[in-house]
Amino acid sequence: MSDLPNDFLHRFELERAGVRGVLVRLTDSWDQVRGRAEYPPALADLLGRTLAASALFTGNVKFDGALSIQIKNAGPVNLLFAECGSDGQVRGLARWAGDLADESSMLGAQPAPLLAITIDNRTSGQRYQGLVPVEDAHLATLFERYFERSEQLPTRVVLACGDGSCAGLMLQRLPGSVHAEDDADAWNRVGHLLASARANELLTVAPETLLYRLFHEENVRLHAAQPLRFGCSCSRERVAAMLHSLGRSEAEAALRDDGQVEVTCEFCNTQYRFDRVDLEQVFRSGQDMPAAPTQH
Ligand SMILES: [Zn+2]
Repeated sequence: MSDLPNDFLHRFELERAGVRGVLVRLTDSWDQVRGRAEYPPALADLLGRTLAASALFTGNVKFDGALSIQIKNAGPVNLLFAECGSDGQVRGLARWAGDLADESSMLGAQPAPLLAITIDNRTSGQRYQGLVPVEDAHLATLFERYFERSEQLPTRVVLACGDGSCAGLMLQRLPGSVHAEDDADAWNRVGHLLASARANELLTVAPETLLYRLFHEENVRLHAAQPLRFGCSCSRERVAAMLHSLGRSEAEAALRDDGQVEVTCEFCNTQYRFDRVDLEQVFRSGQDMPAAPTQH
């Protein structure tokens, strides 16, 4: 117990049912994400569960890069963003204006919000984005639909947030399992068992104990824990590229009285400062870039 990390991802299989699963729990990293703003409780809860989901989904995708989940225009929430890298680094934030009553004021807002799941593959430079219309106010159900549509894999997701942690548990039915004949029965059975998981169990009980408690007749095979941690991929180069994309006049307009442009990363609060000379460099290096093909 003592060497159990606070932030982890466990893959597992339920061998009898032909089902694979992922269990994640975030405590220290969630504390870092949550501490960046005075989130209203309902928004913190939604952000925590979305962050847990982003980590959960990296468990079943083989890639080198980052998986992000964005919810846009959810009523008073302009943007909610959660990301987990294949290196186990998580980060997230939400921007909102005004009062927030409960989850239905966000996911149930009209016009309907949009949920996007994006996989950025660092090695290939490819980006895949799946969009899910937010048709009802249950986050876990939206994710289940996403997987059923994009991967044609029956999927069950439960998410929890509270008492300083967030957590998620996901099951996916493997295609062509050995027990093909009673697949449907097995899938229904483990779905019911998953639904019996209580939020406080997901948030506090040790992984082996939790999975045994839920699925003890299903021959649980638990893989070693992968540690997760808070981390941000921002860099001075990326901020310079952002300033370059703003254009010279806008970037110069952002110069303060002390002759500096200050950009603070919203994810990790790192401050980047550029003075006039730095800006000159940013735009000069821009001129050295290959010119875009001109249209005639
Ligand atoms: Zn950052």
